[in-house]
This record gives sequence, C-alpha cells and structure tokens, in this order.
Amino acid sequence: MKNNKVVIIGAAESGIGAALLAKKKKYEVFVSDYGTIADNYKEELKENNIPFEEKGHTIERLIDAGLLIKSPGVPDTAAVLSSLNNEGLRGVSEIEFGYSFYAGKLIAITGSNGKTTTSGLVYHIMKTAGLDVEIGGNYGISFARILTERNPEYMVLELSSFQLDGIQKFRPDIAVLLNITADHLDRYDYDIMNYAASKLRITENQTQEDHYIFNGDDALISEFNTQLPIRAQKHSVKTQDYLHGITSKEDAKQFEISIKGKHNLFNARCAVEVARILKISESDIARGLATFVNEPHRLEVVATIGGVTFINDSKATNVDAVTYALDAIEGDIIWIAGGTDKGNDYSPLLELAERRVKALICLGKDNEKLKQSFERYIPVIIESTKVSNVVDAAIDLAKAGDTVILSPACASFDLFDNYVDRGDQFKEAVLKLK
Ligand code: ADP
Repeated sequence: MKNNKVVIIGAAESGIGAALLAKKKKYEVFVSDYGTIADNYKEELKENNIPFEEKGHTIERLIDAGLLIKSPGVPDTAAVLSSLNNEGLRGVSEIEFGYSFYAGKLIAITGSNGKTTTSGLVYHIMKTAGLDVEIGGNYGISFARILTERNPEYMVLELSSFQLDGIQKFRPDIAVLLNITADHLDRYDYDIMNYAASKLRITENQTQEDHYIFNGDDALISEFNTQLPIRAQKHSVKTQDYLHGITSKEDAKQFEISIKGKHNLFNARCAVEVARILKISESDIARGLATFVNEPHRLEVVATIGGVTFINDSKATNVDAVTYALDAIEGDIIWIAGGTDKGNDYSPLLELAERRVKALICLGKDNEKLKQSFERYIPVIIESTKVSNVVDAAIDLAKAGDTVILSPACASFDLFDNYVDRGDQFKEAVLKLK
C-alpha cells in the first residue's frame, strides 16, 4: 500500500464490516456511499469516529486511497469505480480484505442456488460436532465484522459472485460450488460465461492441500473444470446419485434429513462431503442433518387452511430455484410469481408448469413476459400488485389437497423492499385467512 488510507465504496453490511476492521487495524478509513446510509450503520460509523459521506461520491476524497474496498452491491460499471480505475485504483472485495487477517480454516460456499441452505447446514453440523466455528459473508454478518470480534478456528462463508469478483489471494481450504444457472446476468453483460467465470474464482488460488467440491452434473462447471488449471483435490457430487437419500458410511443406513426436496438432498450431500473432509464423525453428521432448521423464505410452509397448503419460497428469485420448488410439491399447484425480471428464460419451466400448475397469479408491476411465456401452458392467469388480493384469489382457485406457493423467479424490488419483505407480507396475508 502506498499509504495507510483505506477507502470503502458502499456502506451496507460488508462495507461497514470492512470499515470497522480497517479502523481496528489502525488504518485511516473513509466511507463513501452514492445513496443514503441506513441510520444504524451511520451510528456505528460515528461511534467509531470513522468519517463518511453519503448521497454522492467526492472523487478528490477517494483518489489518494492506499487501498480501495468495494461493496458487492456496487457494480464495476458504477461511475465512481470507472473514475477511480482510470486513476489506476482498483478495488478489492471485503472478503479479500478480511482474508488478509484471518488465520483459521476457511470453508467457502457459492453457487446460483442453495448457498444459504448449504452454508447454514455445514455450520450447523460443525457446531453440533463441537467445533469452534462462525458463519458469515452473504449470510447475515460480514466476514470482516466477525474478525473485529474474534478469530475462530473455522469460518463458513456464503459467497456471491459479486464478492468473488473482487478477490486476489482469497484461498479457501474447502470450496463448494453448488451449481451455475442464469442469475444476475444484468451484472455480467447478459453473458452466462462471465458469471460462471466469476463463480469459478472460488478455486482460483487453491493448492493441492485444499479441497474443491463441485456439482458433477453441471455442464458449465464441468466445462470450466477442464479448461482451468485447478490444483485443489476435486470432489464431484452428482445430483442424480442422491435422489433417494444419503447413506451413512458407518452403518450403511440412510441419514434422516430435516429439509425436503431433491435440491436439498444435493445440498445436504455437499455438506456431508465438507464434514467428512473435516473428519467429523458419522454420528455427529447424522445429528446435524436431523436437527437443522433452515432460514425462512425457502420452501417455508406457512399454514394449511381448508386442506390447502401455503408455501413461502420468496427467496426463489430465478427460474432454476422455481423448477426445484414446483417439482418438490405433490398435487396441483397455484403458483404466485413475478417481480423484477433479471433476464429470465422460462423455457425450462414450461413442461412442468403445464403438467402441475392450474393457475398462475402474477405479482409484479410488469407481468407481460410471464403472461406471454405461460399463456399456452397454464389455463388461468391473473395479476395483481397487492399481496392480499393475490392470496384471496389463490384461496378462491384452490381446492383441498392443492398447494399455493409464492416462488417468484424474479427479484422483488418493483413492489417490495426485498425478498424478506415480500415473504413476510405473503405470510401475514395467509395467516389472516385463518
Ligand atoms: P441462495 O443463498 O443461493 O439464494 P438458498 O439456500 O437461499 O440459496 O435458496 C434459494 C432458493 O433456491 C430457494 O427457493 C430454494 O428452495 C432453492 N434451492 C436451494 N437449493 C437449491 C439447489 N441446489 N438447486 C436449485 N434450487 C435450490
């Protein structure tokens, strides 16, 4: 570093985590955000005497940085990053910054779908086995913030492609790549190869001592695996092999698993692979798998009313996640979908929708693409921008034995603060029916 000044662009959880860690490590820190910084984060900056600006960037205050840290929410095309890049200043991500201070063993998990579930499960199995472990990254607390408190022996990190975009030396002891399907393409020039390359960076700095667990059925991952010089020990997990459960090594019986659906069996198999590399006993793995409770908004059963089951899958923000969700349901489906389209291609869903979905209720501002894609496959399609109307319509259309599922395939920002807000509003409206 040419000087001791760390500049951080973007002041949400990872930006603030990075600022706190940098301050603790005695750097001179400055935080800059294009928008308004949330009050709780502003308070934290003030309490720690960290100067900041909001509602715009003052380039002169940023240009002399010795180190630039960019938040994952800020795209590389943002004007401020282009200006700083032109001055020869390239940003790293908060996980790269955290990595330079971390002395324990790292388990990093990425993929288009299943990151939170698998990271949570790995963490739970490790905790159940009595290991000194913390979880963070995209999962709740940022990596950097955890490091301001302590340096646990093990760290489980859920990572998005945006966080991996800004790494240099970041090297997990165990990397997990769950799958690559079209998502966030707006940030990757609408080219899935750019997005895939970003995900594959999880193994870029690994050596022969490290482990790389990947989805052996994923064509894109296989393609990259043959092209790239991967040094880590490879562990291929094949989705098809685990459709009927995961066998315990010790007693050859099947593990009992608390989460449902084929996709979760695959996630669980990846978690078991991590646990076995860490030499966790089969009985601790069994206890962990049986007692795990997933985060809400992921195939979350809200209620059964008059024989109709309501499921909140608000976190399903792409077509692949919806395909697994609909496939995991028995009986007829009333499907609630829509929101901000991220360049969706619905063709993989058409056949399944035709067989299983009796009505589609669009919950979005602009539903044209959804309606056009499914009009020849689903007999009833209606739309509304109000959650209570959507839920009322669903209960009218449903009969006992049907399932109503909110599994949107889209981002939520047209009508909601985020997917949590969307899922919470849905749950509230469903519970009012009781
Ligand atoms: P992420 O953190 O990657 O968004 P989550 O665990 O939060 O993943 O799950 C997001 C959505 O994807 C949920 O709707 C879930 O049912 C679905 N999902 C979970 N695991 C998988 C998987 N392995 N393949 C496809 N879809 C999945």
